[in-house]
Amino acid sequence: MYIDNIISELVKKYKTNDPFQIAKEKGIVILYQDLGNTYGYYRSYKRMPIIHINNSLDEKDQKFTCCHELAHATLHPYINTTFLKKNTFFSVDKIEVEANYFATHLLLYNQDFENCETKIDILRENGIPYEMERFL
Ligand SMILES: [Zn+2]
Repeated sequence: MYIDNIISELVKKYKTNDPFQIAKEKGIVILYQDLGNTYGYYRSYKRMPIIHINNSLDEKDQKFTCCHELAHATLHPYINTTFLKKNTFFSVDKIEVEANYFATHLLLYNQDFENCETKIDILRENGIPYEMERFL
């Protein structure tokens, strides 16, 4: 998938796979807000890219959300994508599938799976929603 190349380029350029760090280096603003049952969303406002993250999520869900929205900022910068909600994890919409694939593989970049017995172990150890199993 062409997304694998984009992920490797990002990690090489910014020397990290941390989505918060990459977003910062790319000049993307991250805002933590009360978003109800929405995990997060991406918008560009007056050409400034902004990732909105729900401030009531736990740390791992905030990281996954940041990764998913960073995917939109990188792959679909001029599209106003839909809000990320729990059901987006199952989405078959091409843009959402790409963002979930990107998020999963960025978080797993260069991970060593030797001590993981199952795909679920891999996801749990890396704080990735189990719905992403289909991308492994
Ligand atoms: Zn999305």
